Amino acid sequence: HQRLSGRVAIITGAASGIGRATVELFAAEGASVVAVDLPGSAIATVHAGNPNVAALALNVTDADAPQKMVALALAQFGGLDILFNNAGIVPVSPVSAMPEDDWLRAFEVNVHAVMRTCRHAIPVMIERAKTTGRGRIINTGSILAHFADHSCGAYVSTKHAVAGLTKTIAKEVGRFGITANYLLPGAIETGMTAGLFSIPEVRAQWEQAAAVKRLGRPEDIARAALMLASDDADFITGHGLVVDGGVTV
Ligand code: NAD
Repeated sequence: HQRLSGRVAIITGAASGIGRATVELFAAEGASVVAVDLPGSAIATVHAGNPNVAALALNVTDADAPQKMVALALAQFGGLDILFNNAGIVPVSPVSAMPEDDWLRAFEVNVHAVMRTCRHAIPVMIERAKTTGRGRIINTGSILAHFADHSCGAYVSTKHAVAGLTKTIAKEVGRFGITANYLLPGAIETGMTAGLFSIPEVRAQWEQAAAVKRLGRPEDIARAALMLASDDADFITGHGLVVDGGVTV
């Protein structure tokens, strides 16, 4: 039994880490997936050979990125059921020394592109939901969507914004059978955190901070995304799902 059979998904940040793992899991569960990542990323090759995946190289902040993603989902797979806005960046600087470009860039990628993609996709998803009765929007927050950390002011602020945006969307689209939720990953081993977790003391600190005494894997988050995307989550909306192995408990 495949939990996403017949569903069409768009997943951004799909060339590595959490996005890549989610593309693989969703496709294995029967979904057709538009996998989006930057030109110059491995997106063209990483899912090559997977007949359920159409790769799309673009920057999610491009003016026409939402149109291109949704158009490919419609042209290649005939609809759109699941939108997973996962692409994100993490500039590091204390607020007292915040470069404005870092601040603005973080908002552009982590918030503005998410809003613009939702804005364009929602009418298409509502149209689809008239026959299927369902739709799923999943955005990637972070435990830093609810908490703070030093030197992450831009990131923390953008992820708090993702929480507010997602809850608002949940209120607006619920009557169509569409849910909107956001994930709050803890410390996950991906390209984003490779530098951080290569420092043995930092790694040990995060492992010890987790109730389960390990770092997260991209698959841990992909499985949570699958749960939210599946029919099991029909009555879950506007929710921030913490997937952190107990770091914030
Ligand atoms: P990652 O760096 O491995 O993957 C992110 C992907 O997004 C990369 O492939 C990158 O090329 C792509 N991307 C970045 N900017 C883009 C843009 N403008 N257009 C298109 N693609 C773009 O990192 P990850 O850890 O898998 O991160 C995925 C999401 O999870 C992010 O939103 C991140 O904030 C969030 N997150 C990660 C952690 C963690 O510990 N790794 C914790 C909490 C939240």
